[in-house]
Amino acid sequence: MQDCLFCKIVKREIPADIVYEDDEVLAFNDINPQAPAHILIIPKQHIATLNDIEESDQALVGRLPYVAARLADERDIADDGYRVVMNCNDQGGQTVYHIHMHLMGGRRFTWPAG
Ligand code: AMP
Ligand code: ZN
Repeated sequence: MQDCLFCKIVKREIPADIVYEDDEVLAFNDINPQAPAHILIIPKQHIATLNDIEESDQALVGRLPYVAARLADERDIADDGYRVVMNCNDQGGQTVYHIHMHLMGGRRFTWPAG
């Protein structure tokens, strides 16, 4: 999608600190980290919100937690634990309308999230 920030990162039109890439998924460090480790994991395909996931996208979207767990393992935060979050639309706190999974770790999180 032309005006989508994360599509631009996928196309290397704007820079990002990329930490993982495969044919379908990209992961990069959040520009405004909320934890010692804060990585965004996105499908390369543009999907605006969780509400827009089609039945045929299930395998692709299922890769996001898989990659999150692998990255958590690589960063040695898997055993201590970490938080994954996907925000949807305004009340959910979504600000970039290309779905992404936040992987946050390296500190203790509280529940419920604010
Ligand atoms: P959300 O509020 O769930 O939509 O999350 C969007 C996230 O994208 C926020 O945590 C931002 O800090 C992050 N973000 C915005 N622009 C960039 C960028 N250019 N590179 C990396 N992360 C970004
Ligand atoms: Zn996009």
